[in-house]
Amino acid sequence: LLSAEDLHLSFGETKALDGASLHVRAGEVVALMGPSGSGKSTLLHCLAGILSPESGRVAYAGRDLTAMSDSERSGLRRGEFGFVFQFGQLVPELTCLENVALPLRLSGTSRRAAHRIAGEWLDRLEVGDVAGKRPGQASGGQGQRVAVARALVAKPRVVFADEPTGALDSLNGELVMKLFIAAAKETGAAVVLVTHEARVAAWSDREAVVRDGKVREQEYAR
Ligand code: ATP
Ligand code: MG
Repeated sequence: LLSAEDLHLSFGETKALDGASLHVRAGEVVALMGPSGSGKSTLLHCLAGILSPESGRVAYAGRDLTAMSDSERSGLRRGEFGFVFQFGQLVPELTCLENVALPLRLSGTSRRAAHRIAGEWLDRLEVGDVAGKRPGQASGGQGQRVAVARALVAKPRVVFADEPTGALDSLNGELVMKLFIAAAKETGAAVVLVTHEARVAAWSDREAVVRDGKVREQEYAR
């Protein structure tokens, strides 16, 4: 479904990606692991079309992301991709329910239907009780669950997550990741996630270790 082939990208003297390749099948959960500074976030951003590699190719559903215009790429991100990042992804002025409803509203769903579906997702992530609160009034763990609900509500084909539970204690973080992976599996979305937690990686279908800007893959037997 999504593939990166021989990506290179430098920031000044730093080679963030140095021949990274990764292939993600539809519905597959891939965990990116590896030391700090090894290129995990950079690879994720290239896969999602947020960053463009200097050389190499990123293809989604047979389409070359690197050859697309900015507006085509952002259309793809809105329509087919979902994101869960660690910080600041919820709109502080909107309620949690409105945040989750936002992707549906942007794709033309009526307010009433969007709010109904968003409410179901909040319940599924066990945070139905924060629906009417603003993100600033929810706890860190609740906020991350709301962010997961928002990433999945429009049924994306791929969800990208960069240490989504990094700010939570490990028990809470693992709970959110469990719910996240289970919910993504139900919708059939592929997941590319960055995590430092070996236990979280063990729930994925495959672990890919990033080192020195390259991917060293390791299949998981489940
Ligand atoms: P971490 O686990 O700490 O999040 P990472 O594996 O996600 O690390 P990246 O963020 O991909 O690592 O960074 C790879 C390398 O590129 C690092 O050496 C980093 O300092 C550098 N780098 C990343 N983004 C930038 C940037 N915008 N400007 C300059 N250097 C950058
Ligand atoms: Mg990172």
